Amino acid sequence: MKIDKVISGIDSSGSFRVYMCISNGMVQKAHELHDTTPLATHLLGRALIGTGLMGIMLREPGFKVTFQFKGDGPAQQVLCTAGSDGSVKGYVVNPYVDLPARADGSPDVGGALGIGTLTCIRDVGVKEPYVGRIDFVNGEIADDLTAYFFISEQQNTSVSLGVKLDEEANVKAAGGMIIQMLPDATDSAIEALEKWLPEMPRLSDLVESVTANAVGRTPESIMQEYMQTAFLGMPDEHKIIPLDTLDMGWNCDCSEERLEQVVMSLGAKEIGAIIEEDGQAEVTCQFCRTAYHFDREHLERLRLECLRDRFNV
Ligand SMILES: [Zn+2]
Repeated sequence: MKIDKVISGIDSSGSFRVYMCISNGMVQKAHELHDTTPLATHLLGRALIGTGLMGIMLREPGFKVTFQFKGDGPAQQVLCTAGSDGSVKGYVVNPYVDLPARADGSPDVGGALGIGTLTCIRDVGVKEPYVGRIDFVNGEIADDLTAYFFISEQQNTSVSLGVKLDEEANVKAAGGMIIQMLPDATDSAIEALEKWLPEMPRLSDLVESVTANAVGRTPESIMQEYMQTAFLGMPDEHKIIPLDTLDMGWNCDCSEERLEQVVMSLGAKEIGAIIEEDGQAEVTCQFCRTAYHFDREHLERLRLECLRDRFNV
């Protein structure tokens, strides 16, 4: 079942906040748009989910976050952008990356990315976006994001991400969770989490089981069951209180105007060369693969605009 929702919650002692999402529709959409191999679906799916949750955590309308994972492995780079409104988009430079599974059967996501850096760009309404960068921990995405929060934002969080595929390489279950410790967290809450987290069922298994019998139920009740089940082993004083259920899913906001900017970034000289050689151009959105066609007349107009920009006329 295609569910794209996120639920937030807080423990009854006010020690930590939790964000949990089910992203089956979003990761399947990314797989279809980018024709990803199973390994690339795991990689892009995890990055989309982690970025989406981070976007939701920004809360303020119009705020945006971009995570770029750039490594020396065969996948080369994954880039995802998410907004506080729950819209998420992303791409992997090499969607055809394929490596043997690890000895334990898990996909070699870290191997696909190799050694590299994670860059975060946070656009929070001020003039200059905030940029932070760390080296990969292992390129498995969740550990890298956890380290990013700790090193760059001085925030104690725990990030878990899970994607599960069926025999046809379609998405069976996809989900994520971020636990964020609050400033006045009690020692007993930290102890309880440290004890429970290793016992917690795998997220992708949990998503699979709560969505299996979801027909006829409201998304809110499914999301609440998802959250309650995940924290079943927590003691009473740290029971999770579910707060809001929101939409979080794939949304590319590209437009002809936006792609015009891409063409104009080439500069008047280069646009002139394209007009001369091909008389037209096709520009594809990196995120959703939509192709935008620019004919001669349109290119001439953009070339002129470039010149005007340059000479300020
Ligand atoms: Zn697009």
